[in-house]
Amino acid sequence: MQNTKDTIKLDIRKTSEEDLMAFVKAQGMPAYRARQVMEWIWHKGATGFDEMSNVPKALRAALEAHFAFFPITIDSVQKSTDGTIKSRFVLHDGHFIEAVLIPSEDNGRFTVCVSSQVGCSLSCDFCATGQMKMHRGLDPGEIIDQFRLVNEQCKEHFDTTLTNVVFMGMGEPLLNYANVMESIRYLTDQKGLSVAPRRITLSTAGIAKMIRRLADEPIRVNLALSLHAADDEKRNRIMAINETNNLSVLMDALSYFYEKNKRRISYEYIAFEHFNTTPADAGHLAKLCRRFPVLVNIIEYNKVEGVPFTKAGREETDRFARALIKQGINVTVRRSRGKDIDAACGQLANK
Ligand code: SF4
Repeated sequence: MQNTKDTIKLDIRKTSEEDLMAFVKAQGMPAYRARQVMEWIWHKGATGFDEMSNVPKALRAALEAHFAFFPITIDSVQKSTDGTIKSRFVLHDGHFIEAVLIPSEDNGRFTVCVSSQVGCSLSCDFCATGQMKMHRGLDPGEIIDQFRLVNEQCKEHFDTTLTNVVFMGMGEPLLNYANVMESIRYLTDQKGLSVAPRRITLSTAGIAKMIRRLADEPIRVNLALSLHAADDEKRNRIMAINETNNLSVLMDALSYFYEKNKRRISYEYIAFEHFNTTPADAGHLAKLCRRFPVLVNIIEYNKVEGVPFTKAGREETDRFARALIKQGINVTVRRSRGKDIDAACGQLANK
């Protein structure tokens, strides 16, 4: 809601279709006009009522008097030598967030990594976002705006549209559940942006209750767990959330998710030097891959100032990957993208 000296306007993108229908009817207009307005907002990406050319002028004026748009805008853009593009956006209340466009031209994937919150309350030890203060969750429209604006960049720089969306930017998406799910509904809706659910991945630090809730949703997106340590003692040391959502509870929730969705789950596993890459770690991790199909993504760590972790060297990382492969685990080793612009995993902190 916007409060200025003499106006209080509601955010049109936080208004449900039912409420909009009631408003339209109160203006003496047929209900289908509300659907037209919704289509302008979520399908055509309108950011002003004057764009809604097939909506009668009188209704546009009434909407203008009661509602407003609060779109995000680009504040700055940085391009990495590897083609990754990081954008910083300013929100209507002055907060900043970031999103990253990750092109993989060899496999035709153009992925946007979106933020779901301003800051993060989980404060994982190795993460730049976790060092920021948690301000608020993003609204569905603010998440969709990241997709739209980065999609424009994708067209401009690579002459194609985005193919994939990952909720791996700033924030814990499962702690902004309603808004994230609403954004996914608009992303996947035929009358919205028509992104296939299998092209959307939600990444969580591990909130068991919410993983179960996600499993029960009719929209079936992919799930990635930011695992980073495969036993409770180590994981407690780097991710405080593990103290209340330990590995046993998480595995039960993931198992439930798999039973409902039949989608392979990914484990994100940052390789920290001399911390989580020993043969014993490989053994613990392999055990966590037995209950349901898993892909382990081993990720190169990107140094964050003031954090006592360093990245494992290539030899250490490859040895760890080989130890997993020997135990029959599906593994990929992801070399980091966009490190030169602080756009890599765990580095987003509005720099
Ligand atoms: S790793 Fe994810 S959950 Fe942990 S502090 Fe960073 S943004 Fe939050």
